[in-house]
Amino acid sequence: MVSADWASIYKELGANPIINATGSVTLLGGSTPVPEVVEAMAMANQAYVPLMELEEKAGKFIADIVNVPAAYITSGAGSALTLATAAIMAGDDDDKIEQLPDTTGMKNEILIQNRQRYMMHYWYDRCLELAGAKLVDFGSEDRTTAQDLENAIGPNTAAVHYYAVEQSPDSHALSLEETIEIAHGKGLPVTVDAAGQIYPLENFGKYVRMGADFQCIAAKYLGASQSVGLALGTEEMIYKLGLQAFASYEGRRVRGIGRPHKVDRQEMMGCVAAVKRWMTMNHEERLANVETRTQTIVTRLLTVPGVRVEMLDNIIGHQPFGFNLWVDEAVTGMNIRQVADKLKAGDPPIWTRVRDWEDFITIHMFGLNENEEHIVGDRIAALFE
Ligand SMILES: *Cc1c(COP(=O)(O)O)cnc(C)c1O
Repeated sequence: MVSADWASIYKELGANPIINATGSVTLLGGSTPVPEVVEAMAMANQAYVPLMELEEKAGKFIADIVNVPAAYITSGAGSALTLATAAIMAGDDDDKIEQLPDTTGMKNEILIQNRQRYMMHYWYDRCLELAGAKLVDFGSEDRTTAQDLENAIGPNTAAVHYYAVEQSPDSHALSLEETIEIAHGKGLPVTVDAAGQIYPLENFGKYVRMGADFQCIAAKYLGASQSVGLALGTEEMIYKLGLQAFASYEGRRVRGIGRPHKVDRQEMMGCVAAVKRWMTMNHEERLANVETRTQTIVTRLLTVPGVRVEMLDNIIGHQPFGFNLWVDEAVTGMNIRQVADKLKAGDPPIWTRVRDWEDFITIHMFGLNENEEHIVGDRIAALFE
């Protein structure tokens, strides 16, 4: 339960702590580092360590445990996307590395399926442009064909990007298999945003094992601090990506665009601990726990008049289970946006999300501390009872 001194460290500042029923969202904090991560971060503070060397050793440890050729810890998956495009454009040419984000004389176009960008509400495309690359859409909103990709490839094409969402596969998109086949046929690398594809474990790193040159992972989904992420890829790709990164800027004195994307040694060791835990933990237990917590709220709300709840059965990715909540305005006198506003206006505020294109709230257990599922269930019910 929320005690009197709950989140007092924020309140002392005058900041307003909240209960996060939305899930893993960056705006609210993204993740709560798990105890193994907190402990590793504290231990890492006992000594300084050269960070180019730590990046190399941590990357090797993670690559081995995940079963991909190479890995690199970045300042979030977003940074991994930016560094990857820099690596593709500038490679290991130090003059080009220092020239970015000015891409004069370099191939600078990243192809992305129109469907994946607009229809799937892909939010992280900006990260691909930061190093100076330009995004070029291909295919229509309705579907993408192999021919669309073939036609889109031109003299300035640097890479083809793909957004992997195993939870809701898009049968009208061009598949990753075909994307890789066509791109590689023209000597072009393929980058994949698979930030949340960490479960089933066989999906963790799968896109690189399928032949993509690069994929990112967001460590916020793994119980690490939300400020870290992973670049996974071929040895060549990850080597070149490292040359763009902050450690290389300082360690090699080559001023790449990655300098502001700093990662500290505690964050790196926390990320290592998070990956180790994730690859070895009992996921059946993890899923059973989230399912039970979801059922706690769903059961509480089933009998509330004017309210409809539907438990989600997804276990793929980082946010299993949870439920959708609809309200019948004729019965409750409130629409779904007003429900979200009232939860936010309560004490403590409960944050949920209604997406612009949806008429329901999706509640996730990801950001709820122990027992907060009871508070959330009671608070939602109290709006109508
Ligand atoms: C969260 C997320 C990102 C960004 O990851 P950060 O680690 O927050 O930078 C990129 N792509 C997808 C699909 C994500 O869910």
